Amino acid sequence: MSVEAKTAIIEHLGRQHQAMVALLAELVNIESGSYNKSGVDAVENRLRAWLEAAGIPCEMFPNERFGGCMAARLPAANGGGARPIVLMGHCDTVFPDGTLAKRPFRIDANQATGPGVADMKAGLVMNTFVLEALRRFGAPCPLVGLYTADEEIASPSSRPIIEAEAKDARAVFNAEPGRPSGNLVSRRKGAAFIELEVTGRAAHSGAAHAQGVSAIEAMARKIQRLHKLTDYDLGTTVNVGLVQGGQSVNTVAPRATAGIDVRFPTLNIMEKILGEVREILNYSELPGSESRILREGNFLPLEQDEASRALLDTYARAAAGLGMQGVGGEATGGSADSGFTAALGTPTLCGTGPVGGNAHTDEEWCRIDTLVPRAQALALTILDVAAG
Ligand SMILES: [Zn+2]
Repeated sequence: MSVEAKTAIIEHLGRQHQAMVALLAELVNIESGSYNKSGVDAVENRLRAWLEAAGIPCEMFPNERFGGCMAARLPAANGGGARPIVLMGHCDTVFPDGTLAKRPFRIDANQATGPGVADMKAGLVMNTFVLEALRRFGAPCPLVGLYTADEEIASPSSRPIIEAEAKDARAVFNAEPGRPSGNLVSRRKGAAFIELEVTGRAAHSGAAHAQGVSAIEAMARKIQRLHKLTDYDLGTTVNVGLVQGGQSVNTVAPRATAGIDVRFPTLNIMEKILGEVREILNYSELPGSESRILREGNFLPLEQDEASRALLDTYARAAAGLGMQGVGGEATGGSADSGFTAALGTPTLCGTGPVGGNAHTDEEWCRIDTLVPRAQALALTILDVAAG
């Protein structure tokens, strides 16, 4: 691509600040928690209308239980059928319905707030505008804008679609929020979310205590052992973040449940820690108690291989050319869809989105003055990757 064409793309994106903020406001003001199917679908329908008006057709992947996924498909301007570059982002948020009424989209100077503003509606806006700019000035290779539905609950419905789109891609850019330092994310921990049920036997705690089997006691013993698996040096953590159980204060508890979060830095360590966790979950602490896994979701870790490191270098050069010096990669314990694509061997860069912080809290913020520069850096990186 000529220098003039590159300059035209950068200048075009440079004029989109107001339009990007306007679309961001629209998206944040659609409530779209992971379990809010109609909300997630509404976010996608809004983006579909926007993209199709810009001449980019969208393929929908409807889902009965969760929101659907959507793939915006932009062919290469020269008609080349080479492997695509995927711009990925999730349309769901962690926030339950009703959050918006308490704190709708707001801007104070350069900072925007509202549920999902950084994680990751700003990233969706950025990807969408990059696609539009490359359609206008000529996509250097096929591009796929992949909009997913349920990342915040480990992508049970989106994962097969993500893997199918990313399998043969030459690169994946995942628009999770950029770090407050301006860095991207080059490594992420994997995670397993497990909902465990332990059953025992109910009995009157005064009249027939010996006949009972306490599910709470069995669960408590499991929790002690699970928490001992945390090893900061190895990078593994086990957190039982939710516990429920019992029937009444004077009944030996017949049932208890727990929500368990397990984190690990690599695929190898994943095998080890999940093996240890399963051993504890399957063990029967008290005769007559039983346990079973009710639900399980997994994120794979994002490990930085040679190709992903090269991708980060390409991005850093593009960013430096735009005046953003010293952009690097950071590790985080948070998990994301980028782990799935990296595990396929597809070079993956995460955290390409506009800069934000305090994700998953009421204090979430996004720096709207980074919408344009991050879009420009991504567009230049795409051009370089396609050329190389
Ligand atoms: Zn996210």
